[in-house]
Amino acid sequence: MAPLIADLCQHKEGNLYVPALDCWLDADTPRPKGFVSHAHTDHYAAHQVIICTPETAQLLTLVKPYGEALPPCRPLRLGREVAHGDARVRLLPSGHILGAAMLHLEHGGSSLLYAGDVRPSGSATAPPAAPLPADHLVVEDTFGALDEAFVDSREGAARVVEFCQSTRQEGATPVLVTMSGCGKAQEMVIALAAAGLTTALQSKIWHFTRLYARLGVPVPLGARLGQETVPDADVVLVTCAYLEHNDLGARLHRPKYALVSGWAATANARHYDAAIPWSDHASRAELLSFIEAVQPRLVWTFAGEGKLARELQAAGIGARHLA
Ligand SMILES: [Zn+2]
Repeated sequence: MAPLIADLCQHKEGNLYVPALDCWLDADTPRPKGFVSHAHTDHYAAHQVIICTPETAQLLTLVKPYGEALPPCRPLRLGREVAHGDARVRLLPSGHILGAAMLHLEHGGSSLLYAGDVRPSGSATAPPAAPLPADHLVVEDTFGALDEAFVDSREGAARVVEFCQSTRQEGATPVLVTMSGCGKAQEMVIALAAAGLTTALQSKIWHFTRLYARLGVPVPLGARLGQETVPDADVVLVTCAYLEHNDLGARLHRPKYALVSGWAATANARHYDAAIPWSDHASRAELLSFIEAVQPRLVWTFAGEGKLARELQAAGIGARHLA
């Protein structure tokens, strides 16, 4: 018997399932119906039907594996409440990336907020999270204690610009490295453009940036990095995966690399010239304020090793980790 979260949500087969909607939440394997909270690869699976925001539906065209068809998406706009049987559902902004949503469910006199990847303060490309009160709150604990070191978007952008300007003053080429082609990459392009710096973007980042602009985000489209050439630009932006599989350094004049990610707070960052812990996830302080605003009777955490749940319990807040 799968453990129940107040009959609203079940944790089974390593994923979360909402019986009242017959829908899985960010499941990592294909299901008949799945809510995809946002367009990051680790939240996508080829479900038979996908529930997501209209923006996420567009971005998923670049997330799905090349050559595969995107399953039918049923777009649900942020803030719009819909009834499903005797349940009521609403998607709310999570502040994580463009189109990212939390799912708020009311059913049988109880309520649940599934936060997914949340960044309460939002960013230049995503509105702040809307912490609607709920009896039960489900949050990820992806980063453990690392999130204590996260800087907010304003400081992250300032440190990125400072790294690029000082690197260029040395006569070297700044290379910014992110985990994903979608999200912080576009936030960095906006921050760099505001400082008068032009960008050369890895093809994948370039495609996401073009789609962001088409979806109404005021982001300038940088030049596109070729297979063997590098366009004339002040700063180069690539993902970790690109850096691992391409000899980018051979094409650049004195490259200096900065890892810009929540993972910049780990030992992996020692391979880089600089590490900037600007994440599109909440810092620990932000997450605690967010939990306070939701006022849940019980917080359920998943991913990670349960550190957040133990901390909440120690602070007198009801919390359990879904292992
Ligand atoms: Zn994400």
